[in-house]
Amino acid sequence: MRKRIIISGGGIAGLSAAKLLAEQGHEIVVVDKASQFNNAGFLVSLKSFGVRIMEEMGLVDNLIKESTSSEFMHWLDSNGDMIRDVSYKTVNQNTSQSILITRGGLHHVIYEHVKHDVKIIFGKTIADLQQDGKIVHVKLSDGQEMDADLVVVSEGLRSSTRTKYFTESRLEDFNLLYMGGRLKEKHPYKVGTIRTYLDVNKMLSVYPVNNEEVAIQCYIYSTGDIADIHSNANQLLRKTFKNYNSEVQHLIEEFIKEGLMFVDKMGMVEAPNLVEGNVVLLGDAGYCPTALSGMGASLSIYGAKALSHFLAQSPDNLAISLDRYNELMQPIRKKFQENARNNAKSFIPKNEADLIRFGSLFKNASDEEVSKMMTEQLILTEDQLNFTIK
Ligand SMILES: Cc1cc2nc3c(=O)[nH]c(=O)nc-3n(C[C@H](O)[C@H](O)[C@H](O)COP(=O)(O)OP(=O)(O)OC[C@H]3O[C@@H](n4cnc5c(N)ncnc54)[C@H](O)[C@@H]3O)c2cc1C
Repeated sequence: MRKRIIISGGGIAGLSAAKLLAEQGHEIVVVDKASQFNNAGFLVSLKSFGVRIMEEMGLVDNLIKESTSSEFMHWLDSNGDMIRDVSYKTVNQNTSQSILITRGGLHHVIYEHVKHDVKIIFGKTIADLQQDGKIVHVKLSDGQEMDADLVVVSEGLRSSTRTKYFTESRLEDFNLLYMGGRLKEKHPYKVGTIRTYLDVNKMLSVYPVNNEEVAIQCYIYSTGDIADIHSNANQLLRKTFKNYNSEVQHLIEEFIKEGLMFVDKMGMVEAPNLVEGNVVLLGDAGYCPTALSGMGASLSIYGAKALSHFLAQSPDNLAISLDRYNELMQPIRKKFQENARNNAKSFIPKNEADLIRFGSLFKNASDEEVSKMMTEQLILTEDQLNFTIK
């Protein structure tokens, strides 16, 4: 049966779901808080099952066109001296498929593919939700009212709808601030080589997307409140990297002036139930595993596919479809999050001794060990890959 589905949040998860559900014949309305399509963000690595689902959606060729070459990773100290030079071939030797792409590039590929098939309303949010029997009455922030059979909440990590209606959900703060984005600028770096500066309580990566654009990502240990951080992001960025060489300082200044920057703190979402009546959480809004898992984008696409799979399987029983989706996703969420928590322990050196230990570990490890350290594979079981629940 054709359903009216409102998707709140048109990011990677929301737009993937919009595409898959529109293909099933449902009427889709996407509502997004951003005033327009947002191209911001650093790099995401789409792996194994994420690539497979994009392939099924017919998008892999477009993804490859938008992706940039990835040949080497240079791990540097804060002076810019090399700690370790690693080739991507070595790093990805245990990975079946992997595509490195800017977050905006991935979002753009999905957006271009879906924008003519579904209605997308920018600059609005959900102000109120009321379930009345099988229908959800939705009121938007501009007062507009709509009814839906299903509301999909894919608003990302800081979903306000989750906070309001999924009262058992929890957001764990990792006290790690990240600022990522892109800067149009001629630069001296070799395209395809990512440069990462390791340091105490901070990390900076510079990735030349092409000869006239770099992607920049900083991680900074911070216990500050996210609202304060947003208002002081530029000063914080300047202060944190003020001792770095002039090349880095120039990039930071240009990034502040001209860059397309995304600022947030790393957080993990734990929602013991992804379903509340006819409202369902999808992507980071429901099970953000943090960037530390390396699987956030792949998992959000997988969730979209799982949701559309169960809706197609029981078209006349929404409650069963949503229950199955929740049942499938909970163990996967726990596994990915546990892995990310483990990674958090060693991600950024917390003091000088840690930094020295980490540097020497990295310097002396074999290629095989480096690959293992960087691509601790998170594999889904055959049943999970096929959305089978026993
Ligand atoms: C602009 C941007 C840049 C990013 N950059 C990075 C990065 O550099 N590195 C990284 O690791 N991750 C980044 N992320 C997060 C990353 O995209 C996600 O971790 C992952 O891809 C999961 O996707 P998602 O669709 O669940 O969430 P997201 O990709 O975060 O998408 C959420 C969408 O919901 C919209 N939204 C938010 N609140 C509301 C609301 N109340 N009502 C309606 N719409 C709402 C947002 O505008 C966005 O379009 C970024 C996210 C965004 C939005």
